[in-house]
Amino acid sequence: MRIIIIGPPGAGKGTLGRSLARHFRVPHFATGDLLRDALRDGKDTELTQAARVISGGEMVSDDVANALVFDNLNAPEAQNGWILDGYPRTVSQAEALAAFLKARNEQISAAVYLVVREETVLSRLDGRMVCKNCATSFHRRNSPPQVAGICDSCGGELIVRDDDTPSGIARRLRLFYDRTAPLEAWFAERNLLRRVSGEGEAEAVLTRCLTADLGEAKETMV
Ligand code: ADP
Repeated sequence: MRIIIIGPPGAGKGTLGRSLARHFRVPHFATGDLLRDALRDGKDTELTQAARVISGGEMVSDDVANALVFDNLNAPEAQNGWILDGYPRTVSQAEALAAFLKARNEQISAAVYLVVREETVLSRLDGRMVCKNCATSFHRRNSPPQVAGICDSCGGELIVRDDDTPSGIARRLRLFYDRTAPLEAWFAERNLLRRVSGEGEAEAVLTRCLTADLGEAKETMV
């Protein structure tokens, strides 16, 4: 299984990505989490310097994103499949990934496009808290943790992301429509696109996604 998840910020890519990874027993690589990990490590590397822009809602360059992902896809645990969340985010990244996979004789199984209304995105991001340690997300109103400020999954500290501010959210949404949404057509042309509604509970989204055909070429809206 080699599954890509795309969708606007707040669509639920991370939550779905972690569930799909458990379901298919493959690793889940979320470029946003990997960039935030690099920032937290605090080492003075090229990646850390490049990652600084994300707190304002800007994207890192395609070269940085590509190198980060290829590094992870080369790891032994990724040889039987993976879930990619937040990558590719531009047509140029998709072209680079396609070339990388072609050289290894590997194929993308499907690209899940999580479709959500803008008002859903805005209400999910306003109040979101994420675990510093395992990146699980919670919501102040919709899905609060059992103990305030503590992750139910791993006991880590919950924080509000630097880019979950009104200006960071606006910038990420604009970048999504300008640079990532064109991927919908790119995947559709290759018969890889699966449009899945990201509205409602996480469990319902996972069920819808698993009902979509994740292995064979077909276009669906579930
Ligand atoms: P969201 O989808 O909610 O914006 P992510 O955690 O997926 O959050 O990503 C956080 C930030 O990391 C993005 O706003 C962007 O700055 C950066 N980023 C993540 N993936 C990529 C990518 N493939 N290319 C460029 N920048 C990326």
